[in-house]
Amino acid sequence: MNIGFVGLGIMGSAMAANLVKAGFNVTVWNRSADKCVLLADSGAEVAASPRAVAECSDIVFAMMANPAAVRSVRDGADGIIAGLRRGKGYVDMSTVDVNTSLESARLTHEKGGLFLEAPVAGSRKPAEDATLTIMAAGDRELYELSLPALEKMGKKILYLGDTGKATRMKLANNLVMGGMLAALCEGVALASKSGLDTAQLLEVLDSGAVSNPMFRLKGPQIGANREFPPAFPLKHMQKDLRLALQLAEEVGQPLFVTATVNELYKAALAQGLGDADFAAVNRVVRKE
Ligand code: NAP
Repeated sequence: MNIGFVGLGIMGSAMAANLVKAGFNVTVWNRSADKCVLLADSGAEVAASPRAVAECSDIVFAMMANPAAVRSVRDGADGIIAGLRRGKGYVDMSTVDVNTSLESARLTHEKGGLFLEAPVAGSRKPAEDATLTIMAAGDRELYELSLPALEKMGKKILYLGDTGKATRMKLANNLVMGGMLAALCEGVALASKSGLDTAQLLEVLDSGAVSNPMFRLKGPQIGANREFPPAFPLKHMQKDLRLALQLAEEVGQPLFVTATVNELYKAALAQGLGDADFAAVNRVVRKE
């Protein structure tokens, strides 16, 4: 099967590398061409545009930063849609809003193609280890066709139904994650200011009902208030909170906690921490 992959950021580069490793014929494109070099060295073809990727692929995967980035590789004379042929597939794995996804589905169907939204949970390491959770929704036929490739990127793959359902699921997931991380930062800050050993707080948390892999991974960094090398960029977490709040408004669901948590991440963005890992929100909590 000929696979295309557009968007070679933190996640896309690792996911595309796993497809190459699995033996698929992979053609890639990225806005910043330098990010194609490693993939090319490991056997991927590099195309001149997203359109060229689509023209030579049975299924094109895309992993873009945000809705604007999706539109920029999807639309126009050099976009994915322009290169799609009847019966070919477009799988957008970016985290976006429902309207962006519905528009991608509509444009794909107009060309006689099949569309799947497939956002993921899991960060840099799960992307490298092919242990992502993949939430898929849209054309069931494309889900079946792309499963052999999805299985080389993720360990848990769910089909959730019509386009929009995976996007909603992903936003609900990240709302929980953003809030939990913010709560961890505040707990650690309170422990530290009131004279407790933050490592002991992490030990207490880990032995109780809120024990989880994220606290185990990020806790020591937050406890020591160390640097935060980007795994999940903070700007993307704030984007997800904003999109979750937008969805909540559309469906009439109040989100008291998330609205406040979003302000915390916005403050971190305003401090220039957008490209740091989302755990850098700790800097705002610690007021540095
Ligand atoms: P990233 O490292 O920031 O990469 C973003 C990608 O989008 C890059 O290929 C970038 O191209 C491209 N891009 C941005 N703006 C563009 C534009 N206007 N036109 C064309 N291309 C553009 O992001 P990531 O961490 O891989 O995340 C990708 C998606 O997965 C996001 O939706 C994120 O929310 C989601 N996600 C991330 C994680 C994580 O832990 N990192 C986990 C789950 C889901 P350049 O290289 O040229 O900048």
